[in-house]
Amino acid sequence: MLQKGEGQAIERGSTRTPPPPTASSHWAISQDATMTNRREFFQTTAAIAGSLIFPKAVFATPDHCFHFIHAASCKHWPVADPVQWSLENAHKPILERAADGLSKLTECDGDRIVRLVVRRCSLNLLEVHPGRVGVDHWGSHRADLKPFFKDHGLARPEIEVVLRDRKKEATTTLTGDSFLYGVPLASDFDLELFLSKWESRFEQEADDWQSAPGTSSGFAWTGIEDGFIPWTAMKSAWRQGCPGACLNCSGTTFWTNFGLRQVGMFNRCGFVEHVCRECRRSFKDESVDLKAWMAANLDEGVRPDAEMVWGRRVARTTKAHT
Ligand SMILES: [Zn+2]
Ligand SMILES: [Zn+2]
Repeated sequence: MLQKGEGQAIERGSTRTPPPPTASSHWAISQDATMTNRREFFQTTAAIAGSLIFPKAVFATPDHCFHFIHAASCKHWPVADPVQWSLENAHKPILERAADGLSKLTECDGDRIVRLVVRRCSLNLLEVHPGRVGVDHWGSHRADLKPFFKDHGLARPEIEVVLRDRKKEATTTLTGDSFLYGVPLASDFDLELFLSKWESRFEQEADDWQSAPGTSSGFAWTGIEDGFIPWTAMKSAWRQGCPGACLNCSGTTFWTNFGLRQVGMFNRCGFVEHVCRECRRSFKDESVDLKAWMAANLDEGVRPDAEMVWGRRVARTTKAHT
């Protein structure tokens, strides 16, 4: 029996095949042998790019579920059976561009229907199994999958992700952690050292006017190697507060770098970087108003003295109050 809400709003019109009770559970692991066969089936089909067939029988089983994601808006919704859903919703605005084609197809045309709606309607079809996600997309019309992966706990290295580009009928295999926000910390970045300096941000230490390793700012401070940021400037920023919770794990983050990045021949772009101490991912923000950021986060005495321009120090004319 369908429980309230189980059919999901968008599938309300569908009464033919109510989703099985565990269809929305990604992690339900069935011990039965048919599942192994099904999994093997999917591994085989994934391997044969270009002749991917979706027999109707494999839809809406308890051990996996389907979601459509709209590539532009990133709106997503679960469907028990993507083929049936497409046929039943052909008149809806979201499938408008596939409506003509859908009117000529039937439930026996499973793979053609999936390919059609993926191509014409900028939809991605996600097939979520325990440990494995398949994504059908059309060329560059791929949704930002990070929010979905985060919400579904899929952004993990042990999750296999098979991207199926239905335009080229080519597959790419990645791991779930490819869909984490930010980038992994550089392997030589000394997070423990930064954390120990962060802990003592309200204290003065003998090495505060030494460079923080791994920083690269496009600025220069008197007595500090070109480009590096002195600990005292990092501590000043750290005392102002945290950049905000980590997008991946909601962990505590802290600034690790800021400055100007050379863009092309003559332009420079301001950036700030922060790192999550829990998941060790690094986040760069290039939309920041660096001047305002430095005014808010760097005490007057610790602002840079010069900008690095073509490898030379050029005294900063904009340095406030000097
Ligand atoms: Zn799901
Ligand atoms: Zn994190």
